[in-house]
Amino acid sequence: MYEGVVQDLIDELGRLPGIGPKSAQRIAFHLLTADPQEVSALATALAQIKDRVRFCQVCGNVAEDEQCRICQDPRRDSGVICVVEQSQDVAAIERTREFRGRYHVLGGAINPIGGVGPEDLSIRELLARLADGSVTEVIIATDPNLEGEATATYLARMLKDMDVRISRLASGLPVGGDLEYADEVTLGRAFEGRRRIQA
Ligand code: ZN
Repeated sequence: MYEGVVQDLIDELGRLPGIGPKSAQRIAFHLLTADPQEVSALATALAQIKDRVRFCQVCGNVAEDEQCRICQDPRRDSGVICVVEQSQDVAAIERTREFRGRYHVLGGAINPIGGVGPEDLSIRELLARLADGSVTEVIIATDPNLEGEATATYLARMLKDMDVRISRLASGLPVGGDLEYADEVTLGRAFEGRRRIQA
């Protein structure tokens, strides 16, 4: 245990996901001895995320304006929507450079044990985006695990009467895994080999 602010910093860092007490201590001491400019850049970034970052009104991705960078980009194909669980998945798919359409971020996956139902996800917003018929393909890119599969099945059922092609990323992604951590080559291939699903 340390005194005052040093311990406060360790406690706050230790609350972050994936950071245990030892890492929290190591980061705190790194900051204590780091260049003041480096520390103030970090402090500024932390202060700004709550002020400046919000969620895109169209797709739910993280954004600094009302719409995210991708929704604002006229070069992106608005006829294809890739549905993902979270913003980190958008970043993972963008790294593959395989996809030139738009996204829809659900905000999670159906998980009855964790108390997450379809009404907790932005499915209604997705259906609203499809209402005018300008979208011709929906690619469901939820995680290849139980919750992701359940969500994909649910979405396919919801969309089956709409005039839209529905596809799911090809297998090859590690089953039970997390899209966010898939390597670019595997994820890129899964995209190319996406298969059409029939509900
Ligand atoms: Zn957006």
